[in-house]
Amino acid sequence: MKKVITIRDKQFELFIEQEIIEERIKQVAGQINSDLKGKDPVFLAVLNGAFMFAGELMKEVTIPGEITFVRLASYHGTSTTNRVQEVLGLNKSIENRCVVIVEDIVDSGNTMIALKKELEKHNPREVKIATLLFKPAALRQKLQIDYVALEIPNDFIVGYGLDYDGHGRNLKDIYKAK
Ligand code: 5GP
Ligand code: MG
Repeated sequence: MKKVITIRDKQFELFIEQEIIEERIKQVAGQINSDLKGKDPVFLAVLNGAFMFAGELMKEVTIPGEITFVRLASYHGTSTTNRVQEVLGLNKSIENRCVVIVEDIVDSGNTMIALKKELEKHNPREVKIATLLFKPAALRQKLQIDYVALEIPNDFIVGYGLDYDGHGRNLKDIYKAK
C-alpha cells in the first residue's frame, strides 16, 4: 500500500520519493555543469513553486554563476482573454547573459512561453529552461525545455515546492492526487 496523506479536502498518494528526486536533480546539475561552463549563467528561480528545486539544484551546480528569484503576477489585461504575466523582482541585469529559468513544473507550457517573452525584452544572450517536472501529455505550446529532472503523467501533484491550495510545499516527497 502506498502512503496516503490528506491536504485540505483531498487525498494524495506517495508518488516519487526524495531520494529519486534528488538523484535526478544531481543529473540535471551535471548536465548544466558541462553545458554552461564558462558562460557565468544567471539562474532565475520562479517563486513560490521552484524554491526547493532551486535550493537542491544550486547545491550541485559547481560552475560560477548567480542566482536570483522572481515571481510571476498574472492578471487580466484590458480584455478578459488577454492574460498578462508580469515578472516581479528582476532587479539584476540579464542583458547579454545566459539565463536559466528554474521552474517547478511545465504543464501546458503557457507560463514558460509568457516568461520567455518577457525576458527577451531585457536582451539576454540566451534563455534556457530547467524544470523539476514536465507533463509531456499536457504541453500545448512549441517549447524547448533544456533540462528536465522528471517526466510525469497528467496527474495533479504536490510536494517538493508544489502546493495544493497553498499547502504541501514543504513535503520532501512528491505526491499525486488520488
Ligand atoms: P503551465 O503554464 O505550464 O500550464 O502551468 C504551469 C503552472 O501551473 C506551474 O508553475 C504550477 O504553478 C501549476 N501547475 C501545473 N501542474 C501542476 C500540478 O500538477 N501541481 C501543482 N501544484 N501545480 C501545477
Ligand atoms: Mg511554477
